[in-house]
Amino acid sequence: MVSRRLLLGALAAGLTAPTLALAEGDEPSILTRKGRRTRRALKSQAADKAALDKALTQVKPLDEPVAVEAAEVVAPQMVSPDEALGRLKQGNAIFARGGATIALPAAARLADLAGGGQRPFAVVVACSDSRAAPELIFDCNLGELYVVRAAGPTVSQESLGSIVYAVERLGAPLVVVLGHTRCDVVGSAVDVATRRADLRGPLLNMVLPIVPAVLGVQDRHPADLADAAMRQNVRDTAARLKVADGVLAQRLAEGRLKIVSAAHDLASGRVEFDA
Ligand SMILES: [Zn+2]
Repeated sequence: MVSRRLLLGALAAGLTAPTLALAEGDEPSILTRKGRRTRRALKSQAADKAALDKALTQVKPLDEPVAVEAAEVVAPQMVSPDEALGRLKQGNAIFARGGATIALPAAARLADLAGGGQRPFAVVVACSDSRAAPELIFDCNLGELYVVRAAGPTVSQESLGSIVYAVERLGAPLVVVLGHTRCDVVGSAVDVATRRADLRGPLLNMVLPIVPAVLGVQDRHPADLADAAMRQNVRDTAARLKVADGVLAQRLAEGRLKIVSAAHDLASGRVEFDA
């Protein structure tokens, strides 16, 4: 088990929560047929463990800027960052009024999408919450949004890869980091930070990246801490994304990309952008 005291001690010391943590002593599982656990399988398991150990040594925290060479494949950019932002705002205004312009795609449209590839006009990094589906709240259809979801939201190294892929290879000109009101997971991060709430391994790992945002606003917003922490978390995440990858940084500097944070009010349906 990862020591909770150790992790909280690291947070108290101002260290950033790890984006990936494995419990000590965890072994990669291997499936073998019942009664046929051979020496070969054990050897393979050892090889898996060695490969996993090697891969883990190469995992870097999100805060470290990653130097990346210029992209070899550059997808054509269909709209500007501001145009993409305008489309999201317009779509959300329709949703918040209780409307929708999208219709489920017909078979011919599905065939077009399958054969023609994808050109999403925005990446949305959103919480997994079932009440916060980006396609619905932005009135968007298949092929329009590249959605990366994890509770919070938080961004792991693997999620960062998805974001970079959508920008670098698919030409998306906008990344929106989207939080929402009444987020249970941010609430759990508040409980861990303020009351030392006890969460078991995977759940603690899920909320740890949000804890620094809680600690950053708890003195200024004691009465509405969860809401303030949600907004701080998306602002912090957007700020980290801006320095997390060389291609993203280059496109930001050239004005070909915007990375913005936003908050979705579950009750009204409205999204408030920080840009
Ligand atoms: Zn949530």
